[in-house]
Amino acid sequence: MIRLKSEDEIVKMRAAGQLVARVLQILKRRIKPGITTKALNAIAESEARKHNAIPVFKNYPHPHGGKPFSGAICTSVNDEVVHGIPCSNQLKEGDIISIDFGVILNGYAGDAAITVPVGKVDPELLRLIRVTEEALLKGIAEAKVGNRLGKISRALQEHAETHGYSVVRDFVGHGIGQEMHEYPPVPNFGRPDRGPVLKAGMTLAIEPMLNIGTFDVYTKIDEWTVATKDGTASAHFEHTIAIRETGPEILTMLEPGR
Ligand code: MG
Repeated sequence: MIRLKSEDEIVKMRAAGQLVARVLQILKRRIKPGITTKALNAIAESEARKHNAIPVFKNYPHPHGGKPFSGAICTSVNDEVVHGIPCSNQLKEGDIISIDFGVILNGYAGDAAITVPVGKVDPELLRLIRVTEEALLKGIAEAKVGNRLGKISRALQEHAETHGYSVVRDFVGHGIGQEMHEYPPVPNFGRPDRGPVLKAGMTLAIEPMLNIGTFDVYTKIDEWTVATKDGTASAHFEHTIAIRETGPEILTMLEPGR
């Protein structure tokens, strides 16, 4: 069942979303060759704690009984798709890094991800980053009352494939609210006439992952990091949105003046 959120709940989700967006902006400004993903993780965790928010990814249970996730953020570099574990490796000029961050603030969740170039980066990688963010916004534009959820999925996929990229199948977006992961799943591919009919008060985390090569992925020996099988680069963007009568509202888009 999809639980619709009241206006009051959406206000709380907006506060959580804005915190996530501000922290991602802080991290983005710190990304440069030489910084470690562990250092970025420490910044995110201390920002969350400073605002009395819970960094939800930290100690997140492993889906198949492995060890819990150790970071407050996921840091996925180059061919890594999602769920990369922060570590003491330094970022290098020419890398791309995706950062995924989620918090619970006053009982409500916010979840977002960005992909950022490290120093001077190959134009082909910059194009992948741009098209992935565009795909997310195309999907969000279909998050309208009366559309089926599949319309979001289809719009994302079409934008990715038109530009020659593949869409990861094995990981999808999700409903979000008091829990970080709620019903329904939000695939980044599929038929526009499938899925639940969208209603005002639904809140979703939409998160396309696009690969330069094929969509096949595997999980590394650390039990968390997902990477492309063919070793090509991958980008990931995510927003938490609320479906309003008037259209989608992006809760993790930084509001002007904040
Ligand atoms: Mg998510």
